Amino acid sequence: MADRSLAGGSGSGGPRVGRRGFIGAGLAGAGALVVPVAAATARSKRATPRAGGPIGQKSLQATYPHLPAIPQDPLDALVQKLDAAGFLIHMHAMGDGAVRAGLDSIEYAMQKDGPADRRDQIAHLNVVDPKDIPRFGKLGVAANFSSIWFAADDPASAPTLTLLGPARSKYVFPIGSIAAAGGRLTGGSDWPQLSMSPLDYIQYAVTRQPLDGSKPALQPEQRITLPQAIAAYTKDAAWVVKDDTLDGTLEAGKAADIVVLDQDLFKIDTMSIHKVHVLLTLLEGATVYRDTALSLP
Ligand SMILES: [Zn+2]
Repeated sequence: MADRSLAGGSGSGGPRVGRRGFIGAGLAGAGALVVPVAAATARSKRATPRAGGPIGQKSLQATYPHLPAIPQDPLDALVQKLDAAGFLIHMHAMGDGAVRAGLDSIEYAMQKDGPADRRDQIAHLNVVDPKDIPRFGKLGVAANFSSIWFAADDPASAPTLTLLGPARSKYVFPIGSIAAAGGRLTGGSDWPQLSMSPLDYIQYAVTRQPLDGSKPALQPEQRITLPQAIAAYTKDAAWVVKDDTLDGTLEAGKAADIVVLDQDLFKIDTMSIHKVHVLLTLLEGATVYRDTALSLP
């Protein structure tokens, strides 16, 4: 793709709305914070093997003797084959065993295939064994989170915490710890979930409370900052699908994929982020949405 302009020109080919899941890139407007957004999950060239089942096999079987949905050896073989073919690995792993199985399989592929420009990611991360938390940074595997689940009133959370018990519940969606240990965070939607709005997800990530604040935070020590949450839904979401030369940040030469908001996220209460309105959406410089309240010269 050549000659994308940050200047907001309409471009010759017009918008190609379907090429990514969300709208990406941003540009500062008058009195408005602009949030570049890209989807962590939108990429055709990806593998989505389910590391699923609550427990992985190789390293956790002694502790949790349940059989995983995909045993480790075939998972390793599959991931390595896809890795060798240049696929970006994208796994959804809910339990700590599944997370470890996923990390193990990626590490296996790395050892076997050698260095490469990998953008592998593991999504969900409902609970992570503390020993695996630094492995995201070490291996360069992105932690893809759907923060809408962080609210304690989510139907999945209460039974999960009861099942896990207090010690392991400390590591429910431990994105704060993963980031502190040098891991890259990338925001996903895991659509179809409850919302497709990145603003909702950003608020959940920084508060870990229901949007209306009606319940206390779920493991508040795992909150991330607003810059971290915005980066996860913009530049790092672009990075993980190798779109970082195209969008995710405001830079000359990148696509003018822009969202203009009616409020500066850094100047409002975090509990109000979900109420912020999108005034304008540009895709490759072309308007694909414009609020009637926005007057442009
Ligand atoms: Zn999923």
